[in-house]
Amino acid sequence: MEITGIAQREAWLKKVIPPVECVAVGLWSVPVVFPRNPMRYTLAYVLVDGDDCLVIDPGFDSPQGRLDLQAGLGAAGVGVKNVTGILATHFHTDHLGMARWLRQMSGAEVILGRAEKRYISAFEDPADESAADRGRMRTWGVPEDRIHEAALDVAGLMHLKRLADADLRVGDGDLVPASANKLTVVETPGHTPGHICLRDESRGVFISGDHVLPRISPNVSLEMRGDTDPLRSCLESLERIEMDDDFEVLPAHEYRFNGLAQRARELKSLALGRSAEVLALIQAQQNPTVWSVAESLRWSRGFQSLGGLQLRLALSETAAHLQYLRTAGSKHDVEGLPQHQVVG
Ligand SMILES: [Zn+2]
Repeated sequence: MEITGIAQREAWLKKVIPPVECVAVGLWSVPVVFPRNPMRYTLAYVLVDGDDCLVIDPGFDSPQGRLDLQAGLGAAGVGVKNVTGILATHFHTDHLGMARWLRQMSGAEVILGRAEKRYISAFEDPADESAADRGRMRTWGVPEDRIHEAALDVAGLMHLKRLADADLRVGDGDLVPASANKLTVVETPGHTPGHICLRDESRGVFISGDHVLPRISPNVSLEMRGDTDPLRSCLESLERIEMDDDFEVLPAHEYRFNGLAQRARELKSLALGRSAEVLALIQAQQNPTVWSVAESLRWSRGFQSLGGLQLRLALSETAAHLQYLRTAGSKHDVEGLPQHQVVG
């Protein structure tokens, strides 16, 4: 892997926000602050071609984030009102969050992947959803006094419910509408059910969202309304992008790099290694649960230090591995996983 975002990497190491950069003709990389999060910022991409201005992953909505995005648009020679299209690679708040405000300001349409499903839609009741999630945590063996931490709460669900809905949906092989730029959609489910990447042949870049990042492994979680086997989807999605190895990778976090195929293979082998650890644990435990397996796995800062969202992510990632092993033919059953046809 060769890091091409030198200034971004330096900023990452110094724990500061990187500069706005013109990455290719008519394409700017714009860091938008992600407050109170170790990722620190989302890299939004602004593509300008004539009167068209497409914003990809506008970032988390905060007062400073709005200023960051406006500064990036200014560097590209446009204002918020000139935006003609808004695309999010997936629904997470650090990508789709600012889309609602940007749509209000510009009148541009919001574009999401065809298969993207959220934790909660505008039509569902957060209280019901939270109760169902608590029930699920119980079947995962989460101790009663930790359920409130691990389950989605009503306030968090209300926040997710306010995210912009898609005006337009795009699928594999589509060219992104609302843009004169020739951007091809590549469906890459895994991190979320309808995550998409974008291939820009004319500029030689591959916009990877959170599917492939240079330094960390993107989280893959088993979620109630999500994919019933997200890790399998993620591994398949990593295989399908290997052929785009000639493109410079523009991720949504950290820094730009070359070497997509190598990085995709690394991420795949890390995930498979983790699954092997999970398998060894369920073979060794009497009545394994998602909790008992997660508790025995190695975590960078130790399982005991995990709380709140980090605890939830650890549990739902463990559940994704258990489900993957199950659909790969593992005979060990663990409670609380969705029904899925066993293959192999
Ligand atoms: Zn993200």
